[in-house]
Amino acid sequence: MSEVRAIPGQYQLVPTRLQEQEANGTTRCNLCLWRCKIGHGQRGFCQAHVNRHGTLYNLSYGIISAIEVGRIEDKPVRCFRPGTKVMSIGSYGCNFRCRGCHNLEISWGLNALDELARGASTAAYVTPEELVATAQRHGAEGIAFTYSEPAVWLEYVIDASIAARNAGLYTVYVSNSFVTDEALEMMAPHIDVLCSDIKSMDAAFYSDICRAADIKDVLASIAKAKTLGIHVETRTNIIPGKNDDPETLRKIAVWIRDHLGADSPWHITKFFPAYELSDIPPTPSEIMWVAHDQARGTGLTKVFVYDDKGCDCAQQNLPVATYLSQDPSAIHQVKVCAGSCCGPDGILLKKYEPGTTKASG
Ligand code: SF4
Ligand code: SF4
Repeated sequence: MSEVRAIPGQYQLVPTRLQEQEANGTTRCNLCLWRCKIGHGQRGFCQAHVNRHGTLYNLSYGIISAIEVGRIEDKPVRCFRPGTKVMSIGSYGCNFRCRGCHNLEISWGLNALDELARGASTAAYVTPEELVATAQRHGAEGIAFTYSEPAVWLEYVIDASIAARNAGLYTVYVSNSFVTDEALEMMAPHIDVLCSDIKSMDAAFYSDICRAADIKDVLASIAKAKTLGIHVETRTNIIPGKNDDPETLRKIAVWIRDHLGADSPWHITKFFPAYELSDIPPTPSEIMWVAHDQARGTGLTKVFVYDDKGCDCAQQNLPVATYLSQDPSAIHQVKVCAGSCCGPDGILLKKYEPGTTKASG
């Protein structure tokens, strides 16, 4: 049976789904493995959860940074409802700071999240029901939560997934799998497909490129998703000089075979220069096919090479308003939280309170 929860009709902070009070007056967020401890007027690492007087709230509930409608194969997902169209959406706030990220503005969204925290955002707010109607209007049979880490706005991802499932749509979660077991368990009943990155088998790669994550935690989370009954596919974006060592790639294939099954799909995508890794050239085709052949040699049967495709980027997407049915000027009105905790100005952070000069959060 579906959960019954009050869905805000307009932009409003929503309590963080997994939070616990700490003895020292801070509150801990348990959505992802950062498990941030956050004091009043401050935000967690992703910048999307804020503490107001001891309670954590998600700043980005219903806030959509990007929309695209395309083939499910482009997520990439190859072995679930092939040939169907899926509507991809994302919001501001990611729990990684990958040095080669293509989605800085729509995933990290530092300026956008700051505007939300100042009560000055003009980003689109879309209720779960409107989201589902939008997907159906565009002929999509599913909704994919992607472009940033879905666990960071799990409050909305779950509500939107419930609405999608009730309408007969499937749901896809494109993730870095740096999420807690609690978040995964909460999400599992509502998600059909997990498409997760395995960026490397090397702990040094994760600390160099993604800083926070430990590969053991990421792999444990992916394996757990399978035990929870989610259809799992994995993806590795090969970055020259970083994770292109053939032995590393072979180890990824062996891990997939042993923990997800020999018929579990593995997608090998091409790196394109971006952000702090702009000086690294695109991945040569040869190494992608070496990885493919090695993986087939380990017994993996579904190995897909994308010689022209990188990560799930949204750089060329149409503006969000073009997909929605409302007038763009209504969609982009200034958003001030409709709740009571922020005061009339919608100011959420200590650093923006009148008379405060010291930056915090
Ligand atoms: S979701 Fe954000 S606030 Fe919560 S633990 Fe992760 S980075 Fe921290
Ligand atoms: S590449 Fe993905 S996981 Fe990494 S920072 Fe960008 S959006 Fe987040």
